Amino acid sequence: MAENQQKALAGTSPEKFGDFGLASELLKALDDLGYSSPTPIQSRAIPVILEGKDVMGAAQTGTGKTAGYSLPVLQSLLYHANTSMSPARHPVRALVLVPTRELADQVYEDIRKYAKYTRLRAAVVFGGVDISTQTGILRAGTEILIATPGRLLDHIQQKNVNLGQTHILVLDEADRMLDMGFLPDLQRIVNLLPKERQTLLFSATFSSEIRKLAKSFLENPVSVEVARKNATADNVKQAVYHVDETDKNEAVEYLLRQHQQKQVLIFSNTKAGASRLARQLEKKGLKASAIHGDKTQAERMAVLDAFKEGNISVLVATDVAARGLHIEELPCVINFDLPFVAEDYVHRIGRTGRAGATGEAISLCSAKDEKLLNEIEKLIKRKLPLLTIPVFELKKEKIDKAETAGSGKRSERSPYKSVGLEKKSQDPWFDRPYVPEEPSGEEKRPEEQVSRLPKKPLAALLGGKPKA
Ligand code: AMP
Repeated sequence: MAENQQKALAGTSPEKFGDFGLASELLKALDDLGYSSPTPIQSRAIPVILEGKDVMGAAQTGTGKTAGYSLPVLQSLLYHANTSMSPARHPVRALVLVPTRELADQVYEDIRKYAKYTRLRAAVVFGGVDISTQTGILRAGTEILIATPGRLLDHIQQKNVNLGQTHILVLDEADRMLDMGFLPDLQRIVNLLPKERQTLLFSATFSSEIRKLAKSFLENPVSVEVARKNATADNVKQAVYHVDETDKNEAVEYLLRQHQQKQVLIFSNTKAGASRLARQLEKKGLKASAIHGDKTQAERMAVLDAFKEGNISVLVATDVAARGLHIEELPCVINFDLPFVAEDYVHRIGRTGRAGATGEAISLCSAKDEKLLNEIEKLIKRKLPLLTIPVFELKKEKIDKAETAGSGKRSERSPYKSVGLEKKSQDPWFDRPYVPEEPSGEEKRPEEQVSRLPKKPLAALLGGKPKA
């Protein structure tokens, strides 16, 4: 056993990529990427994988897990690298299964970067796009294949690919694959692989289903865990705003303008909700777009590229579509809806504050969301600051007054009247001057108040300390 591997197994993690004994081709690629030191999951996983052991890794997107498994896999495959044109010399030796097209594409891009100085081939296949281009690539041969399960089975059925020499299997975001109903597909694929293989399973969560899956697919796996991001993410400023359900659109718009961030990712619980919010923000002059499962692959890729290039500032996404998106230095995440599953909150806020950068995670919570908020707080073992937005408080007071006085005039209800928001925003995001929309006369406010609601002003989040 190499000294660095002994060190890692004994608990002292290597601090430099050079300590792992990786080939110079890989180190050079890392140097080009500016990766100066391994992340915790890399320090723990790379030596164990290099030893050929099965691994059960608890890590979410943003921890550097892709390089954590790709680098040792590439290192193990270097021995097979060759320049032959014969497809027979390029069988699939490592298969990476992922739940979504986006993650497939991102893992592929990452692996291509890490492998750029090697002669190993990588290819990616996923559904929603024409199969024939992928067929040509597969038939030419590739050592590393990244795939979503359904499309891979199509290729297997069409005999475009054979997995008889695939001795390394990676299951990335295994929990999400199970959530998405891929278990039968995974089982069919695994049955086609050699019994003698190394299996690496990565998952953000470890439910009993995942443990069952690991038991049947892995052999004596080494558990590799890094501290959950929610337990350590002091660099993510979390805040929750209490707003009425009917005020959420305006609240998002208000917060976006206040924050003036370059890129904001907003989570919606539904595809229709994501589209609706993006459309409404667009109408208000914000450069927004939605990404979700009902969009074609080409549309999703185009939106993602536009967001990465800064042509879109606000991306509204569902959990499934957002999972695994690699967007560097995302400064702010907004939960338009609180997630139904508390663990998704952790995944969502993990999109910001990466690699030591600071980030903000803002959630909107209406009275009906209080139960979900409690679940989240239980999971992350802390209370989140619950704030109010003064303009909406003012609005409530106005409505109450108007209702008491028997006057229901719409213009009276504008929350912006006395707080000076009519002025044109200086924010470079906006193409058009900001014209606040008056709330609909039909809107109803829930009677219920959030009982633990402290009266903290917006300034608490936007820089200054909240006044008591
Ligand atoms: P992942 O968790 O694999 O989605 O990686 C998150 C991001 O971190 C990706 O954009 C990687 O390019 C980047 N990354 C991975 N490892 C390192 C490292 N050791 N140093 C700096 N950035 C890294």
